[in-house]
Amino acid sequence: MIKKTVKESDFLKCPHRKKCGGCQLQNMPYDRQLSFKQVKAIKLLGRYHHVCEIIGMEKPYHYRNKVQAAFGERRGQIISGVYQSSTHNIVPVDSCLIEDIKADEIIVTIRKLLKSFKLRAFDDVSMKGFLRHVLIKRGFSSGEIMVVLVTAVMDFPKQSQFLNALLSRHPEITTIVQNVNNKRTSLVLGEQSRVLYGSGYIEENLCDFRFRISPKAFYQINPTQTEVLYKKAIEYAELGGNETVLDAYCGTGTIGIFASKNAKRVIGVELNPDAIRDAKTNAELNDVKNIDFVCADAGEFMVEAANGGAKYDVVIMDPPRAGASLQFLRSLVTLSPEKIVYISCNPETQARDLSFLTRKGYKVRRIQPVDMFPHTEHVETVVKLSK
Ligand code: SAH
Repeated sequence: MIKKTVKESDFLKCPHRKKCGGCQLQNMPYDRQLSFKQVKAIKLLGRYHHVCEIIGMEKPYHYRNKVQAAFGERRGQIISGVYQSSTHNIVPVDSCLIEDIKADEIIVTIRKLLKSFKLRAFDDVSMKGFLRHVLIKRGFSSGEIMVVLVTAVMDFPKQSQFLNALLSRHPEITTIVQNVNNKRTSLVLGEQSRVLYGSGYIEENLCDFRFRISPKAFYQINPTQTEVLYKKAIEYAELGGNETVLDAYCGTGTIGIFASKNAKRVIGVELNPDAIRDAKTNAELNDVKNIDFVCADAGEFMVEAANGGAKYDVVIMDPPRAGASLQFLRSLVTLSPEKIVYISCNPETQARDLSFLTRKGYKVRRIQPVDMFPHTEHVETVVKLSK
């Protein structure tokens, strides 16, 4: 049975739940959400091994350190909020139960400032207007806050007055970046960025480490549970100090840096060049000397590694929702590491990939679900495999 972490009376109901659709499990008390996710993990992964009890959050609210709001206009009024699932209709939201409270406050301030500065929100039908989105990333333990103003054009009317007004209302903001997105796209961020205030990135502490987070690089959105997840992954890797470890799909190098303390050497591979730049900085920030990062498609990297006769004792992999490519998995089997730690945000593709690996001689030894995204239907799982 799942431990009860939140009482039924603590069950907060969101006024936006019907229109927003972001929190598919809003209508369930938290302990029932955990049971739901446990059952989902068992259904998909239970045929490989016993599934440990899901690790939930003690306070499953306001856990998101990254908050995004879409801006638009309705009947002459500027609105900000989230897109209704699978549509382009903005549901106005001022405060969200899973988002960081401070980030939500800053977004409301920006909306009010737009009005007083007579700046328009972007309209994605006429492709006219100024502000499209606001993205905020906050370091929960460092206290640093980054605001990214995503605009349709580079020209920023009354820029310095606007920034002064924003900073005087929120002196806690440590950096402001403007990103320009002038395309007809559902992607939030465009190609061009410029730093308007501060360093252009934030830093955050996780366990004993310090990490840099820039606007575009992936960083886990629930820092409390990220610590739980990473500790589990490192536990499953069972490092003794002499291993060569591959951190595949390494993002900003966080897991590899965690692993580096107990390994001989770590290589991180990642497709996003911004993330690789942050990863290299993170290694320096933490004075880690036994780690290297490669910017490449993980599948192609694996093929080269396999052809070149590389040797990895442990492969930690954390692919996006689509899972690993067949190319990646085939080369993984050729490389034949003693242990594989597979972190996944989508147990469906993980189940598919486990089916491949178990047919090629690997056995699943542990399965641990972690609730990284309370109130949503998403389940994160860490699986340990060995030969
Ligand atoms: N392990 C990291 C990141 C996990 S998210 C962390 O815990 O923070 C998945 C990462 O895979 C993202 O950073 C994404 O940019 C990267 N990625 C996606 N497709 C990839 C590919 N084909 N090759 C390498 N990296 C890829």
